[in-house]
Amino acid sequence: MRALRLQRWKSEPELVEVDDPEPGPGQVVVRIGGAGACHSDLHLMHDFEPGQLPWNPPFTLGHENAGWVHAVGPGVRQFDIGTPVAVYGPWGCGRCPRCLVGVETYCENTDEAPVPGGGGGLGADGGMAELMLVPDARLVVPLPEGLEPREAAALTDAGLTPYHAIRRSWPKLPPGTTAVVIGIGGLGHLAVQILKATTAARVVAVDTREDALRLAEECGADSVVPSDDNAAAEVRRMTGGHGADVVIDCVGTDATLTLAASMVRTLGDLTIVGIGGGSVTIGFFTLPYEVSVQTTYWGSRSELAEVLDLGARGLVRATTTTFSLDEAVDAYRAMRQGTIVGRAIVVP
Ligand code: NAD
Ligand code: ZN
Ligand code: ZN
Repeated sequence: MRALRLQRWKSEPELVEVDDPEPGPGQVVVRIGGAGACHSDLHLMHDFEPGQLPWNPPFTLGHENAGWVHAVGPGVRQFDIGTPVAVYGPWGCGRCPRCLVGVETYCENTDEAPVPGGGGGLGADGGMAELMLVPDARLVVPLPEGLEPREAAALTDAGLTPYHAIRRSWPKLPPGTTAVVIGIGGLGHLAVQILKATTAARVVAVDTREDALRLAEECGADSVVPSDDNAAAEVRRMTGGHGADVVIDCVGTDATLTLAASMVRTLGDLTIVGIGGGSVTIGFFTLPYEVSVQTTYWGSRSELAEVLDLGARGLVRATTTTFSLDEAVDAYRAMRQGTIVGRAIVVP
């Protein structure tokens, strides 16, 4: 079969011929119905230095996957061939206290994970191929009725990551509050919908691109604000001078973190989701009192089931552009140029 592989650090991926995967005991092979192109893949291609991560190329890209069960190994009884499924992306050891509650993102026993601190498309072979080997059936989640693999793919990362970030801030988002999402790309446009579907907060979307702000409006944002020098003042004006209760930064550069810090309110949450390499200074006088600052990584297995439920009920829907495997490199190029609206999905 053909697969889009990252062959080495600091390189463009290549479409090459590889062997079809065979499932071993407890394993599942998924026929891919959709593999999302995530901005993190651009960071993988261009930003990481050898030795920076606990795993290395070569591997097949695509860490946002859904499809149908194609083959199961000995001992896998829970899936019929052809069952539509999503792949839970972060692969832990399956046994440590974090993994036991489904938070495999923060596995404490990564030496025993299939890839230390990684997953399919992140050190192990991912879904930008016709077939994908999932090393343990627990990492395969059946799709709820009414959700197709092509629609579900984006929910496994672009949906799950902001869902986890937003869920932890639910107590700070009762009626009368304001949540800001910075960066309305793959993650951000779903963040807007997740906020609308799961909280009563007023949702403000911030981006540099006109197209992205229009998408945010379609996704239900109450207001949109261009990401410029006036953005923080605009959010303060909208909130009676107080600022936003929760700011989710889906970019994570110096510029957006500075913006986030200047619009968050006393007692608020500033959550860094984007891997833009920026930083924010934390000190007694740099942020309003009792602001919590956190990074979040992906989400848990049970949260994936929750976000798929939102998808199946039509409360959250990814805006997607479909690319064939041959066109996958074009999808990444377009993402780099900032011309993708929503999520690019590769359908092998
Ligand atoms: P994307 O390219 O689809 O979207 C990025 C958006 O940010 C675009 O709309 C762009 O116009 C906007 N943007 C860029 N600079 C901006 C600025 N200064 N102000 C406001 N908006 C700006 O990317 P994506 O796939 O949604 O990923 C977003 C980020 O999240 C990436 O850094 C990615 O690596 C990271 N990510 C993190 C996790 C995690 O677990 N923490 C998971 C997935 C992706
Ligand atoms: Zn990702
Ligand atoms: Zn673990």
